[in-house]
Amino acid sequence: MPSEFDLIARYFARSPVTRPDVALGVGDDCALLEVPPGRQLAVSIDTLVEGTHFAKGAEPRLLGHKALAVNLSDLAAMGAEPAWATLALTLPAADEDWLAAFADGFLTLAAQFGVQLVGGDTTRGPLAITVQVHGFVAPGRALRRDGARPGDLVYVTGTLGDAGLALLAQQGLFVGLGVVPNLRARLDSPIPRVAEGRALAGVASAAIDVSDGLAADLGHVAERSGVGATLHLDCLPVSPAVRDYVAGTGDWSVPLAAGDDYELCVTVPAARQAEIEAVGAAFGCGLTWVGTVERAPGVRCLLPDGSLLSGAPAGWDHFRDG
Ligand code: ADP
Ligand code: MG
Repeated sequence: MPSEFDLIARYFARSPVTRPDVALGVGDDCALLEVPPGRQLAVSIDTLVEGTHFAKGAEPRLLGHKALAVNLSDLAAMGAEPAWATLALTLPAADEDWLAAFADGFLTLAAQFGVQLVGGDTTRGPLAITVQVHGFVAPGRALRRDGARPGDLVYVTGTLGDAGLALLAQQGLFVGLGVVPNLRARLDSPIPRVAEGRALAGVASAAIDVSDGLAADLGHVAERSGVGATLHLDCLPVSPAVRDYVAGTGDWSVPLAAGDDYELCVTVPAARQAEIEAVGAAFGCGLTWVGTVERAPGVRCLLPDGSLLSGAPAGWDHFRDG
């Protein structure tokens, strides 16, 4: 049986990324890291627990990817440049096949974003994965949640609801012919909008990453900013699969409340509309206007017929306690 130390050495000590700002990485009591002069350090941490955030038996490669991706999405939502990560793993057993696949999923995504794994902790117990990420942002440039003002425009990157539809399919609540494999990738291996977040940082007044669904996450921005907003549901960017699903069921909860999209939602002063559209035009994923910030608190959803979506949308409950 390999010791905990052997496993760390085998799977996590050799980072495929070696950054000049890492004076000392994995292997000592602490890592020693150099924050570039004149930049702020952006720090975020997230935990995934078996049975709560993923099902028992989930594919370790996808878990490694997702555990880092959800953290990089938080850096993206601040407009920060990712640099370092630490990883705390609690494992029921030293399963080498599991560790090899997990490390591959994690380190492959880390390499894509130039992130070096600089330390962590490994313990025995029920499976849980905690990742902390560290990034840089120029002072005053970070995209905070509290900067939205009445009259600002609301934009989102990419498309909303694909991960939610994949989850419904997984639960046997939706059967879409031929569309599920594409949707599954959105649920299992999200790509954080890091470059988009950094480009938006010069222009947007506030931002959040869409992890709990647009309605709730825009609600967090509104609350922190002391404002409200109206969303125009006919403008939500959706894939053909989600468009057909909503048309067939009238269930807006998939693009509005399902979560796990890891797109960015930003607010932008109306005077900077031309600038934001120019920035968005350079994104492969697209950037779409979906609503307006208002003085009245709360998030209102305007249906295509001009009426307000009342209460919780039908099907909203699919995604509660999940
Ligand atoms: P300590 O007892 O001082 O906490 P550990 O035995 O926990 O040391 O860790 C030894 C080294 O291995 C440290 O540099 C630590 O950061 C690193 N490490 C431990 N677990 C992980 C992991 N899952 N991923 C990356 N580095 C790890
Ligand atoms: Mg330790």
